[in-house]
Amino acid sequence: MMSYWKPEIETMDPKDLRQMQSEKLVKLVKYVYDRSPFYKKRFDEFGIKPEDIKSIDDIGKLPFTVKQDLRDTYPNGMFCVKNTDVVRYHASSGTTGKPTVVGYTQNDLDAWAESLARGMTAIGLGQDDIIQVSYGYGLFTGGLGVHYGSEKIGATTLPAGSGNTERQITLMKDLDVTAICCTPSYFSYLIEAADHMGCSIKDETKLKIGIFGAEPWSESLRKRIEERSGIKAYDVFGTSELSGPLFIECEAQEGMHVWGDMFLFEILDAETNEPVPDGVVGELVVTTLIKEALPLIRYRVGDLASLDTSVCKCGRTHPRLMRLKGRSDDMVIVRGINVFPGQVEYVLVKFPEVSPHFMIVLDRDGELDSMTVQVELVDMASDKLDDYHKLKARLEHELKSILNLHAEVEFVAPGTIPRSEGKAKRVTDKRQF
Ligand SMILES: [Zn+2]
Repeated sequence: MMSYWKPEIETMDPKDLRQMQSEKLVKLVKYVYDRSPFYKKRFDEFGIKPEDIKSIDDIGKLPFTVKQDLRDTYPNGMFCVKNTDVVRYHASSGTTGKPTVVGYTQNDLDAWAESLARGMTAIGLGQDDIIQVSYGYGLFTGGLGVHYGSEKIGATTLPAGSGNTERQITLMKDLDVTAICCTPSYFSYLIEAADHMGCSIKDETKLKIGIFGAEPWSESLRKRIEERSGIKAYDVFGTSELSGPLFIECEAQEGMHVWGDMFLFEILDAETNEPVPDGVVGELVVTTLIKEALPLIRYRVGDLASLDTSVCKCGRTHPRLMRLKGRSDDMVIVRGINVFPGQVEYVLVKFPEVSPHFMIVLDRDGELDSMTVQVELVDMASDKLDDYHKLKARLEHELKSILNLHAEVEFVAPGTIPRSEGKAKRVTDKRQF
């Protein structure tokens, strides 16, 4: 049976949804202009006045916001409310310098939980479920984000956090956990670790649903996870600047429902900044329609993705964000070619002889970049040398056809690649520039 958290919103007529978005955008633009010196200055520089924005058709007139703006105004120069109205902070670690600080009013936290409650309901979760939250708690938004969604739908929440994998497995089994939220790489690790403990997640636990995100993952990894663990694996999207994890797929597993009454999504051609049609991959740009503490106008999230705005099989009318193609900042350039770690994963999961854990090592070979992919064999027996040579050749051939570039495959022993409890580290760059 199909269930909805807020059917009147989730299945509303797309025309009414657009109208609602237009009204919210008009209000938002005035709100940030009046309250945020940052946006007032930026709008003035662009020669834009709030009254120039009459509907979402005018969105292209508005300037973009980028992550650097949040860094430049550190810690809270872009906030639109007084510090006393902020009820929570989160912060994401920057690779360089200061972290990015995000603030929330009580209404912001309620909307965040509401977004997840809709998504969790759409995959059949409810008050009879026991949800293990194995994202990190703390400044990272993953743990607390799904925690509040889980509480909102009345499920029982197990705030396991990250780490202590053996205890996670023991509690999952003994407390009859039915759903887990974590990164897909951590769940892959959990399946292996459970096997080592002599506990099959598939046969000896009640786990039936996984909500996996915080890093891009492929359709083939989904199949592999589902086969090995017997669960249904769902993708979730969000990023700390927009709140945290926000949008989950429905049971159709055909894209994540992004709630149009809260957010306005655009997919733009990275060169021309013009919108691209449904199904075409471009840069994701998001406007928060109802956030109070830190609303963002046309925020360049840094992800490459596509949208599907047709009505979903589940009856929901809000746009769907299709599986991410990678983050533009995860991309590495090797010999002038753009390489995403997700492309390597896409190849590896087709080979049952290797594990999905890998490391891309970039180095210099004279003037040229060299790329090595360290891959774990599932079973390393010395009498199979011949097979390894053949497997190496097949893997290298397949990688070349996806990447358009030769990558050397190096086999390492099972368990050698560091397992991550958060976002997996996939690239070691030893090149000197
Ligand atoms: Zn759907």
